[in-house]
Amino acid sequence: MRAAVLHAPGPPSAFSLEDIPMPAVGRNDVLVAVAACGVSSKDVVERNGTYRRDMAFPIVIGMEISGRVVECGADVSDFKAGDFICTKAFSSCGRCRYCRNGRETTCLKRRPVRGGYGEFAAIDADACVRVPPGIPFEVSCTLGPGAGVALNAVRDTAHVQLGETVLVTGATGGVGLPAMQLAKLAGARVIAVTRNDQKKGGLVQDGADEVVVASSGEDFSKAVRALTDGLGVDVVIDTVGSRMFKASFDSLAMHGRYATVGQLFGEDTSINLARIFFKRAEILGVGSVSRTQLEDVVNLVARGRLMPRIARTLPLEDIALAHELVESGEMSGRVVVVPNKQ
Ligand SMILES: [Zn+2]
Repeated sequence: MRAAVLHAPGPPSAFSLEDIPMPAVGRNDVLVAVAACGVSSKDVVERNGTYRRDMAFPIVIGMEISGRVVECGADVSDFKAGDFICTKAFSSCGRCRYCRNGRETTCLKRRPVRGGYGEFAAIDADACVRVPPGIPFEVSCTLGPGAGVALNAVRDTAHVQLGETVLVTGATGGVGLPAMQLAKLAGARVIAVTRNDQKKGGLVQDGADEVVVASSGEDFSKAVRALTDGLGVDVVIDTVGSRMFKASFDSLAMHGRYATVGQLFGEDTSINLARIFFKRAEILGVGSVSRTQLEDVVNLVARGRLMPRIARTLPLEDIALAHELVESGEMSGRVVVVPNKQ
């Protein structure tokens, strides 16, 4: 089968397209003909060597997978050949103390999903969720790490309530955009922060009530307070990280919740801890997507309530270009490659 193989960390041109043996299908695995694979910033850091956990070269990366099941391992009972699936980022064991407490994303035996940059991938069935035929593959592949994580942030971590005001940073990004749409669905008023003035119109179309344009590191909290009668916002969903932290925390109202769901930069940030207790603020860490959360976003997309934006769909041969586009940070919506035309 054809795959984009990485023999060592490197620039986007480091991938080599090769014919390699079919992956071995374990007892708990499904073999999937990969119809689409999202290219994420996680893929970028796996490629360039910044992320090293569980990386053994040569390797076929790619974790945002959608496709058709062609074979099932001996112990798989939830799927059959012909099913359409998409994936979460990790499989979990279902038996450790975290799994048993509904915290599967921190499973002690979790294993990363990989292999999406090949025509076929063997994936632990636990990491797969069934997708109805009406959802295009290039959309369903992005649902776990994008909309699924956004649902985790908005509904299950920040607990956004009807009538609240929510600030979303990086609002045109893979998590930011669905977070904005989901906060609207939850009945909140949404203020979007973006670096790019030209993206303002699109953000309003996608559901932002107000858009604040601010460059990285700029203090936008005065603009946010002006929009909220001086009170600030009830919730921040921060998909950018350190360079947005100060202005975003300054935008937070008394008793506000600050959900942190991304860190695009390597540097630290600092805060006088008294500011957290004076404000009675909650700082909340958002993890990856659970199976239930992924099933729920698949449902929302199937019912037309949520629509992720796909910026470019490219053949697997253009994997280097796909990585360049993702690294540029200029795309509105997701970049997807097609390893196996269905
Ligand atoms: Zn577990």
